[in-house]
Amino acid sequence: MTYIGRFAPTPSGPLHAGSLVAALASWLDARHHGGRWLVRIEDVDRPRVLPGAAEVILGQLARCALVPDEPPLWQSTRDAAYEAALARLRRAGLAYDCACTRREIGEALLLQGHAHARHGERIYPGTCRGGVPPALRRRPVRAVRLLTQRGGAPVCIEWEDRRLDASVQNMTQNVTEAVGDFVLRRADGCWAYQLAVVVDDAAQGVTHVVRGEDLADNTARQILLQRDLGLPTPSYLHTPLVLGADGAKLSKQNGARALDLADPVATLSAAALVLGLPPLLAGTPGAWLDQAVSAWAGIIARYSQPQR
Ligand code: GLU
Repeated sequence: MTYIGRFAPTPSGPLHAGSLVAALASWLDARHHGGRWLVRIEDVDRPRVLPGAAEVILGQLARCALVPDEPPLWQSTRDAAYEAALARLRRAGLAYDCACTRREIGEALLLQGHAHARHGERIYPGTCRGGVPPALRRRPVRAVRLLTQRGGAPVCIEWEDRRLDASVQNMTQNVTEAVGDFVLRRADGCWAYQLAVVVDDAAQGVTHVVRGEDLADNTARQILLQRDLGLPTPSYLHTPLVLGADGAKLSKQNGARALDLADPVATLSAAALVLGLPPLLAGTPGAWLDQAVSAWAGIIARYSQPQR
């Protein structure tokens, strides 16, 4: 089998315990399948990028013997590919310019009777869907959105995961109603994560996406974009999250500290515990990883059991 996996960090800071879990799981799964493992630096969200963080991340991975099989791909070099994808969506009538401000979107939603916020993002009320209205035309174009109403019908995407099932995660999403016409290129000119990740997973030939469960909610949108762009859909495995002291996903706000890499085997062992791997005895990161690959078979067999 041709297996290509990847780890795709956003260089907004160094790796923390949670991101190492995703890196380790994607590496183990690639090696278990005799596949290749790539790293992609997701630096399209320019305001969030911390200068030097990508280099720190690559150094942290190397200290854990997690070395990609090819030089990393930097999304900041990929404008032409994202432009081409956007042009294709426009030609298909699936992408449109939107000149609305956030405030106008909020006001239009209130007028329509819903103050529906979702992860801080609002479902777009459709003001510019049929073309930017005359009153807004003199504004510079602010964002580009994907049309999620197709012939008046909503778009429903059903997907499968190698670990999650419908008892813990909604695996059928009515993208039109749950998310709406989402952004492909932001008002500040930055490419949206959804478009960049779909274009690059396909360009890198990624067959298996292994990433943290906090990203599961994006999967339906990404599958929709893959279909719209005529790209294959990879297999998905969303891994358990490291929780902070408050029970929420670990983040800088609830205690994520920079990884302690004085003893990389101890750090890898802590990440492995989150994935359900048994304790392993090995002196070096390389030897530890070899043992972990063997143990990974048991983990994925357990993940695939329904109703954990
Ligand atoms: N860049 C994303 C993040 O760091 C991950 C993207 C992905 O794995 O699909 O959260």
